[in-house]
Amino acid sequence: KLFNEVQELKGNIRVYCRVRPFLSGQDPKSTTVDYIGESGEIFITNPFKQGKDGCRMFKFNKVFHTHASQAEVFSDIQPLIRSVLDGFNVCIFAYGQTGSGKTYTMSGPGTSKEDWGVNYRALNDLFDISLSRRNAFSYEVGVQMVEIYNEQVRDLLSNDIAQKRLGIWSTSQPNGLVVPDASLHPVQSTSDVLDLMEIGQTNRAVGSTALNERSSRSHSILTVHVRGVDLKSGSTSRGCLHLIDLAGSERVERSEAIGDRLKEAQYINKSLSALGDVIFALAQKNAHVPYRNSKLTQVLQSSLGGQAKTLMFVQINPDTESYSETISTLKFAERVS
Ligand code: ADP
Ligand code: MG
Repeated sequence: KLFNEVQELKGNIRVYCRVRPFLSGQDPKSTTVDYIGESGEIFITNPFKQGKDGCRMFKFNKVFHTHASQAEVFSDIQPLIRSVLDGFNVCIFAYGQTGSGKTYTMSGPGTSKEDWGVNYRALNDLFDISLSRRNAFSYEVGVQMVEIYNEQVRDLLSNDIAQKRLGIWSTSQPNGLVVPDASLHPVQSTSDVLDLMEIGQTNRAVGSTALNERSSRSHSILTVHVRGVDLKSGSTSRGCLHLIDLAGSERVERSEAIGDRLKEAQYINKSLSALGDVIFALAQKNAHVPYRNSKLTQVLQSSLGGQAKTLMFVQINPDTESYSETISTLKFAERVS
């Protein structure tokens, strides 16, 4: 409801912070999160520095505490997701270090309904709404799923996954939207989506020893295309929702990384800073937006800026060991918000 009004001021960019709870076995007293305010403030304490000097405040559109449920988080972004049915383009990112809850927020920890993250809930909601409007509108929904790894785009839903290296997304739609040159799969129900996600996850693991390792070093993008036809007037609208689980933002020590690991780290670093630069330029309403500096920003170009709406979940691991990553994550987010 408020989204449009608030976002007029800020180039349609909104930043939400979500704090991951302590996992069992961790000491909840060793937290860097000192206080979370009602208006989007979060206070972080430096575990190595006592007193006032060690405390820093950041402010975002909203901060979710550790106990926020998946349903609670979703209900906040529901209006944004529904705007896709009215022809808007929406990008939702999860940014943060590995282990901070990006996948939890976007996909969820399991496939039971309470566990569902943003992506299942979003599709489920789109199906519900289109059903409730079926006397006035007819909607077609299709999904694509790609991964960007080492600046290469791969179609996760294609059969010949090994060969399927994609070029720059090229198919131009009538409304000027550039959509991925990746296979597009029509879906009619949430269970269709669950099936496709499973295929995508399996394909993601191809060529990598451990799925977790790989998934933390690549960006995965689930794109939902919605075409609506107004049954009375015959007019059509097209909207597009990108749900992006970004690669881990942690900095890799130069001394630790060699060979492939170093290359991966450099690609991730490059694409995340390119993303930051694009969102920053949009937030500042700069005339020049540097989309061309990474595959990620090229792929999302037509859905970042203009009338498109962007939401970034900034994920925090509250553990004291993550202090310096937490600060750099929050600084990144502060710059784009
Ligand atoms: P990332 O994708 O950023 O690497 P994950 O989403 O895999 O992080 O989360 C790391 C661990 O923390 C997982 O075991 C996950 O289930 C758990 N976790 C993350 N966020 C939450 C949350 N909000 N509530 C409960 N557990 C969470
Ligand atoms: Mg993950």
